[in-house]
Amino acid sequence: MADYTLSLAHLYGDLMNTYGDYGNIIALRYYAKQIGVTIDDQLVSLNDTFDPKAYDFVLFGGGQDYEETIVAKDMVQKKEALREYIENDGPLLAVCGGFQLLGHYMEMADGTKVDGIGIMDHYTTNMTDPSVKVDEGKRLTGDIVIKNNETGETYHGFENHQGRTFLGKGEKALGTVVSGKGNNGMDQSEGVLYHNVYGSYFHGPIFTRNGNLAKRVLKTALQRRYPDVDWAAKLENVPAETF
Ligand code: GLN
Repeated sequence: MADYTLSLAHLYGDLMNTYGDYGNIIALRYYAKQIGVTIDDQLVSLNDTFDPKAYDFVLFGGGQDYEETIVAKDMVQKKEALREYIENDGPLLAVCGGFQLLGHYMEMADGTKVDGIGIMDHYTTNMTDPSVKVDEGKRLTGDIVIKNNETGETYHGFENHQGRTFLGKGEKALGTVVSGKGNNGMDQSEGVLYHNVYGSYFHGPIFTRNGNLAKRVLKTALQRRYPDVDWAAKLENVPAETF
């Protein structure tokens, strides 16, 4: 049997992994193993070079405001490489703080504005934003359910963030809020979809709880690396776990 391997980068995984977001990689490995695919993952962190051609999937997890300030400074030197990876349809999951830092800026709870790398068009204000009249001054915390209207898939998760994110040009939401708060509590959007970037406020982790999404992203990564194989057929009979 052919030997198929995917290389994954856990971007700033030593700083941005607050809610067990590494579980997303464990979930991908779980599904990959069932179709004979090996998953290798590697930490790419402060002062490391990010090679946009080396990876088949990138996980950029969540973190607290403080860790985000450290990561934001280092990301400047990875900006063009990350842009190249994303614009070439590299699959990437960005959770919470990771989602925020790919956009223009995020405001910390104390009002300090932290620059993101701006390779995506969203921005994040904080819980005291006077234009946001929902849950003023409160974190957006709790169970959340969203639906992606294109695929019809429903995703379940737990959100815990103070930032209020607003999507920009060319960005679609990962889903419409069925219950919970989502990106900002106001416009019913949750997360982002841009090329093969999946951004979300879901912890739990999102792939562990939503096997349909894990399988979708795994298929995308495999098709990109090994286009001659019918990955949809291989994955078809693998059950998507939900929790
Ligand atoms: N510091 C961010 C916020 O609270 C991100 C939190 C997270 O990654 N869970 O908005």
